[in-house]
Amino acid sequence: MAQYNTITPEVAAQLHAAVGEGRFFLREEVDPNYSHDEMPIYGKRLPEAAVDVETTEEVSAIMKICAANRIPVTCRGAGTGLVGGCVPLAGGLVLCTKRMNKILEYDMDNLVVRLQPGVLLKDLAADAQKHGLMYPPDPGEKTATVGGNISTNAGGMRAVKYGVTRDYVLALTVVLADGRVIELGKSVSKTSSGYSLLHLMIGSEGTLGIITEMTLKLIPNPVCDVSCLVPFRTVDDCIRFVPKIKLAKLDPQSIEFMDADIVTSSAAFTGNPIFPERVKNEDVGASVLVTFTGYDEEELDQKMIRLGEIAKEAGALDVLVVATSANKKSAWAARSSFLTAIEADTKLIDEMDVVVPVDKIPAFLIYIRALGDEVGIRIRNFGHAGDGNLHIYCCSNELEEDEFKRRVKIIMDRAYTKCAELEGQVSGEHSIGHAKMVYLRESVGEDVFDLMRQIKAVFDPDNILNPGKVCDSSVTM
Ligand SMILES: Cc1cc2nc3c(=O)[nH]c(=O)nc-3n(C[C@H](O)[C@H](O)[C@H](O)COP(=O)(O)OP(=O)(O)OC[C@H]3O[C@@H](n4cnc5c(N)ncnc54)[C@H](O)[C@@H]3O)c2cc1C
Repeated sequence: MAQYNTITPEVAAQLHAAVGEGRFFLREEVDPNYSHDEMPIYGKRLPEAAVDVETTEEVSAIMKICAANRIPVTCRGAGTGLVGGCVPLAGGLVLCTKRMNKILEYDMDNLVVRLQPGVLLKDLAADAQKHGLMYPPDPGEKTATVGGNISTNAGGMRAVKYGVTRDYVLALTVVLADGRVIELGKSVSKTSSGYSLLHLMIGSEGTLGIITEMTLKLIPNPVCDVSCLVPFRTVDDCIRFVPKIKLAKLDPQSIEFMDADIVTSSAAFTGNPIFPERVKNEDVGASVLVTFTGYDEEELDQKMIRLGEIAKEAGALDVLVVATSANKKSAWAARSSFLTAIEADTKLIDEMDVVVPVDKIPAFLIYIRALGDEVGIRIRNFGHAGDGNLHIYCCSNELEEDEFKRRVKIIMDRAYTKCAELEGQVSGEHSIGHAKMVYLRESVGEDVFDLMRQIKAVFDPDNILNPGKVCDSSVTM
């Protein structure tokens, strides 16, 4: 069991001095939101103190104080995580990066941008666009920080074509647990230079170091795009269509899956039923929303025609082109609202973010639905069909929390076993936090889990960085 010290008045004074007026908060002054992330079922815990940092030097000074006094430190971006990652399980200090929100410099010759970790995804996307560039990763929650995205290796809707956050990180400035500042990576497009600590840091959820500056790769902004909704009678038909889009060499930017239930709740939530529930007098069982982007309108027209042909062969009810820019905006806004729509009409929620080989999606969905019925838990799901990443939500408005948790545990235990059978992974993009640690351990096995713990011990021998997360079970909720 890790032993930590509490924040004494002397230590509080040092922390206060490290950041200056208005950015150090002690006990009841701490913002209650700093006790949780966007998945409250994974618990709330207020830290003893919080700091809103602005520079690498401040983070380094804070870490030196905390290391010397053995105070646990949980880094927080925007708190939009879904696995309890920024919940300060061991109390101590929350170090929030929201004020490190400056985009520092564009290098237009090398197409890279240097920025601080607290920049919001939506602000980077908009600013890059002003420079004629695109930051390709596009996770659903645009108010997340880019530092949080890197720390969770966030994925999102454009991963089919462009990859995930990891693929765009060239270099990082990181503050280690003892306050040392290190530089990982360089602004180069390839490297074969020793162990990649850069890639170890990406997705490490604040357990190995605190990211204080990032250099990211950008691409020229595509000049045209088109989205089509392809509705099917059944989930099975719908998912079987996904590999066909890829095999037809259509190079889609995204292929998003939605079943009938999620379409109904999204329509109720947004008040804008943009996705049809019936087409040609038939009920729609599931649809995919497919987007193509490029630099040539004619090429996209050809892709749409080809999509229509293969959709017809695959038994689609229709191919509905999302034509006007207003409709495109509404369609993608509705898609982005799926989780919020579920949250709006559900009292208790838990989630799973498994990733399975694309052809195994129907098998997993059929299994999980039957399991939900058997255990008496409502299942909602949607996902990034193009890369096999499914967001499964266990929901209830009727059950008491204890009973909900008991039933959800049965579902989770069996669903992760099924996921392993189907050669899947525990998390496609939301990461591990403390909520999924037990399933990570089962999935990777003891040897690999042990190596993860040894790596953690090298970076953070006193275990003060985000204790209780990823592979450290010394602190629990
Ligand atoms: C409606 C909704 C939709 C979402 N859609 C997606 C999606 O499509 N794809 C996806 O991948 N995720 C999605 N998410 C999850 C969430 O937005 C991501 O996990 C995001 O990357 C978290 O960023 P954040 O700034 O909120 O980080 P936080 O929640 O504050 O922190 C997340 C983790 O990163 C660590 N961390 C944060 N900043 C730093 C830093 N500077 N240095 C070191 N560690 C740090 C924290 O300690 C914590 O472990 C969604 C969430 C919501 C609510």
